[in-house]
Amino acid sequence: MTSVYEQLLVREHLAKATPAGTLSEADETRFKERVKELLDEQNAVIVAHYYTSPVIQALAEETGGFVGDSLEMARFGARHPAKTLVVAGVRFMGETAKILSPEKRVLMPTLEATCSLDLGCLADEFGAFCDQHPEHTVVVYANTSAAVKARADWVVTSSIALKVVQHLHDQGQKILWAPDKHLGDYINRSTGADMVLWDGACIVHEEFKAKGILDLQKIHPTAAVLVHPESPASVVEVADVVGSTSQLLKAAGELPNETFIVATDRGIFYKMQQENPDKRFLEAPTAGDGATCRSCAHCPWMAMNSLERMIASLETGSDEIQVPPELIKKALVPLTRMLEFPKD
Ligand code: SF4
Repeated sequence: MTSVYEQLLVREHLAKATPAGTLSEADETRFKERVKELLDEQNAVIVAHYYTSPVIQALAEETGGFVGDSLEMARFGARHPAKTLVVAGVRFMGETAKILSPEKRVLMPTLEATCSLDLGCLADEFGAFCDQHPEHTVVVYANTSAAVKARADWVVTSSIALKVVQHLHDQGQKILWAPDKHLGDYINRSTGADMVLWDGACIVHEEFKAKGILDLQKIHPTAAVLVHPESPASVVEVADVVGSTSQLLKAAGELPNETFIVATDRGIFYKMQQENPDKRFLEAPTAGDGATCRSCAHCPWMAMNSLERMIASLETGSDEIQVPPELIKKALVPLTRMLEFPKD
């Protein structure tokens, strides 16, 4: 089977993924002040994902914005009164914000920031897959384009996916799941639901290696292992806790362990360390036997979010998310189902 790296579209976009450079302290301070001025002038607020850099996350917090997972970001953006949302994350998050708040202007530091799951699930091919399974309820992960969401019955994030599929399975429904095959497989094994899976993967989570984690645990025998379910089944098997970013964050606070091995994007360490200053967080290894490190536990597209790009977007209005009104109307239906699904 072709690995997600070998897919032409993913390689093309990865080649454009220029990470933000390191700034001097003076430049960082100057750029942050400029962003603050622009946010005030334009009645704008930053909505940032946990995987963006600590600088962006801290700035979102300092300016009354928000840091969270994609579900929490969507909820915050929809209820905040600001006229402009500056979504620091990847493109599907900006599109989700626009679908939920079409009257607001949604800017991103760069529209080039995308996601291998979104790239690997093109609307036409996905539509044909749905046509082959007309008796299935279509559940798509939030990491998809507006056009793919428009074809779905449900949109879910990793924090709610298991509950929604369990709910549909309890009603006797068959599920068509896309695009992350590892998350789909995890949900399938957990719920026993009748599911067909799209063959997509996250280039960051697919790189974690069970052997590397077990070797690291020999050095830190009291460490708890936290794993995001976009990781392969072999990695999920060695986890003490499997969950979305916000669920892993919660586990880091609640478990009595002092050390944690964390198999998700290392951007999460900013919040984990902030909330648990006395605990220690270690990156799960990504290079195991026969593998080379491609993402090194950090999403190359999330790394494109920088202060300079945020300033350029706010100053010029570039990198604004546009979603056609007919897609907004269709995609809003499965997104609203997710937002109205009981959290607990
Ligand atoms: S970490 Fe993976 S799922 Fe998240 S945006 Fe990056 S490629 Fe997509």
